[in-house]
Amino acid sequence: MSTYSILIDVKKCSGCYNCFLACRDEYFGNEYPGYSAAQPLNGQFWMQIQEIERGEYPKPKLDYIPRPCLHCQDAPCMGPATGGAVYRRKDGIVMIDPEKAKGQRGIVSACPYRVIYWNSDLQVPQKCNLCAHRLDEGEKLPRCVESCPTGALVFGDLDDPTSEIAILAATLPVEDLHPEFATKPLVKYVGIPKRFVAGEVVLKDKAGECAPGVQVRLTGGGLELSTTTDLFGDFEFEGLGKNQCYKLTLTAAGYADASLEFVTTKDINLGEIVLAPR
Ligand code: SF4
Ligand code: SF4
Repeated sequence: MSTYSILIDVKKCSGCYNCFLACRDEYFGNEYPGYSAAQPLNGQFWMQIQEIERGEYPKPKLDYIPRPCLHCQDAPCMGPATGGAVYRRKDGIVMIDPEKAKGQRGIVSACPYRVIYWNSDLQVPQKCNLCAHRLDEGEKLPRCVESCPTGALVFGDLDDPTSEIAILAATLPVEDLHPEFATKPLVKYVGIPKRFVAGEVVLKDKAGECAPGVQVRLTGGGLELSTTTDLFGDFEFEGLGKNQCYKLTLTAAGYADASLEFVTTKDINLGEIVLAPR
């Protein structure tokens, strides 16, 4: 027995769109009877790449979240489908039958992740099925995973404890995308962007010279983290919760400790933090 999934490491995704293009190459104009109808030229993104801009100048960040169908174990897309148009295979893959689903447009809006598309020419809803036709032919990987140059997509069998995906899922802090949807997705994520705080430490007695090697400690929101400033006096903490209170304490030999508090209503750049001699 197998349970197929993709583990997506957002931190490794460079936004190159290779996965999207490989998916297009596999499905545009190509039908796989019993699996999927041909993808039209425009308007379908079975592998979406969501771009997330965070922070602001001079500390902006750009992250990419690859978003295929997540193959939910409690799949809302199955709700409005009639006549077996949407079904789950024994290996966990949620399929849209390209014949039985004809005319069933209500399936599109039932997905909270918005990864189902309406093919107006063929009058059928369509989405990612993890390249089920390839897997059934003995191929090891969906096209998107095969094409990813960074290792951001790991595909495999969660039921095989020796598989890479099972080992990673057991050892990394995996998360659901939008856990509030409560759909029990098989596709899991690592490193979904959260809040960050950044700053730059300078020395008052040295005309604002940047301060490398300063100990910076962050507490709050159930976290206790520490780091040291880099050669430019910069520091950063990632993965903070939204709307949480945090406290920073900065310590450097010969200088008075500095501390400040902030709330993560947004990503925060504290700018220059000045350390004064004791
Ligand atoms: S992500 Fe959407 S289309 Fe995929 S199984 Fe879940 S509800 Fe259905
Ligand atoms: S191919 Fe890999 S690195 Fe490129 S966008 Fe897709 S998941 Fe990201």
